[in-house]
Amino acid sequence: MVTYEVFADRIFPPASLTQMLGMEYDVLIVGSGAGGGAVLWRLCDRWRNNGMRIGMIEAGNLLLPAHAWNLAILSGGRAEKFVANPFATRYIGKTLPEFSGAKQIFALGGRTIQWAAVTPRMPLHVLARYPVPFKEMEKYYNIAEEVMKVTKPFIHNGALTEIFLNLLRANGFPEATHFPMAVDMKPTKYGEVHSNAYFSSIHFLAEAMNIRPFDLAVNARAVQVLAEHGKANGVKVMSPDKTSYVLRAKNVVLSASTFETPRLLLHSGIRGTAIGRYLIDHSAIRGTAIVKRKGFPEDLGPLDILVPETADRPYQLEMYRRGRPSIEEVAIGINGYGLVEPRAENRIILNPYRIDEYGLPVIQVNYSYTQQDLNVLREMTSAMRKAFSAIGAILVSVDGQPEIFLRPPGDDNHEAGSCRIGDDPATSAADRYGQIHGVSGLYVADNSVLPSLGTNPTLTTVALAIRTADYIVSKSQSSR
Ligand SMILES: Cc1cc2nc3c(=O)[nH]c(=O)nc-3n(C[C@H](O)[C@H](O)[C@H](O)COP(=O)(O)OP(=O)(O)OC[C@H]3O[C@@H](n4cnc5c(N)ncnc54)[C@H](O)[C@@H]3O)c2cc1C
Repeated sequence: MVTYEVFADRIFPPASLTQMLGMEYDVLIVGSGAGGGAVLWRLCDRWRNNGMRIGMIEAGNLLLPAHAWNLAILSGGRAEKFVANPFATRYIGKTLPEFSGAKQIFALGGRTIQWAAVTPRMPLHVLARYPVPFKEMEKYYNIAEEVMKVTKPFIHNGALTEIFLNLLRANGFPEATHFPMAVDMKPTKYGEVHSNAYFSSIHFLAEAMNIRPFDLAVNARAVQVLAEHGKANGVKVMSPDKTSYVLRAKNVVLSASTFETPRLLLHSGIRGTAIGRYLIDHSAIRGTAIVKRKGFPEDLGPLDILVPETADRPYQLEMYRRGRPSIEEVAIGINGYGLVEPRAENRIILNPYRIDEYGLPVIQVNYSYTQQDLNVLREMTSAMRKAFSAIGAILVSVDGQPEIFLRPPGDDNHEAGSCRIGDDPATSAADRYGQIHGVSGLYVADNSVLPSLGTNPTLTTVALAIRTADYIVSKSQSSR
């Protein structure tokens, strides 16, 4: 790991926790994943060099300088193995019987260094239940899509995609469409290199660095949020050798993930009945089927088809190609993501009997499906069979699994909602700008803010995080 540390210090602004001690930050961001990166970039872009002080602390280290798929050396399945190393990934689900698929990634860029970059907007019927007006969501989706280079043409004209799209649309799935992906499709020309195609939060950090200076400390774990008289004023941070530092800040933004953000808040004694509650995740199923290659063009192209959730269909299907096709056959996978109603009972709590190496209680998760959630699962399973049949594919079992199987909660990496935004402090942890109810200057900007899910979470988290940054900018202007 020494190599990484030297590497990180050379690439990123080298701030040590000791250097950061003497500062009072205008904004201190905890966590550098999708939400934290978005806040950092937006603040730097809005404030430019106006003297405001921005700091970021990240519990992990520099593991990869970009999304893993942008690095030739990590192609062919090696990326997954590399990120799974114990320095970065913790399979916390092993001790969470009701959320056994959960994992955490501690690294600069958070989970975006290996995410699949699928970036749809939430469906309209889901946004209708969000506390943020639709026009506002639209404005911030536009900004998020532009900065994340979201594109649809990524897989246009792929033979398999086009053939299957037509078959699905004609056989009960009229809304089937191409995946929007956060992939920079611009060709390299006139000296502008576009080799860093897959978006990750490292992009946000890099963009921010090119705009103005900020302090970033890696291997710096927030262990407590500090607040007095209803106002945030800093964060207690620990280095790997367990030395404590108190960093002062006028505004604190927690972007430590759906698991870590409520954990920090609960451990810090921040009150709020909804903190940790309303945990949501898709109910996830997966199936594999085979189609005969005969009759398809030689060049199959990629396969990425999205059947979005609608008001009448409470689940989403994602069709993709599994592995390399043989001369005879192509394996097709479908992931199904079903709606799970947000409920206060599904929650993250602290386990007072298990303390981690930093002295913090670990989390415990209470999570179960209602009869309604189980109905959605059943409906989604039969729709998956129908989709395979529409493209003429025959279901097969892979690795001894049933042809269509239920994935454990958390396995899809879509967990959210544990610090949801809303207007009512009884049912939401933060207001519509991400500010924790009753604590001024304390914000949340990560997947935990999402009040409900209707598709993959990250684009929406980034849009809301940018909005939170704009709110902080506007508040600081009015208090000057
Ligand atoms: C394999 C894979 C594929 C995925 N594919 C998709 C996809 O196609 N589409 C999609 O929408 N989503 C996808 N996701 C999910 C996506 O990565 C997450 O939605 C997104 O990264 C969540 O952002 P976040 O800011 O909530 O948390 P994260 O990205 O997890 O970032 C949290 C950060 O906080 C840091 N941190 C945690 N605790 C502390 C602490 N106490 N102090 C300081 N720092 C701390 C962590 O190290 C991390 O850097 C995928 C995820 C994986 C793993």
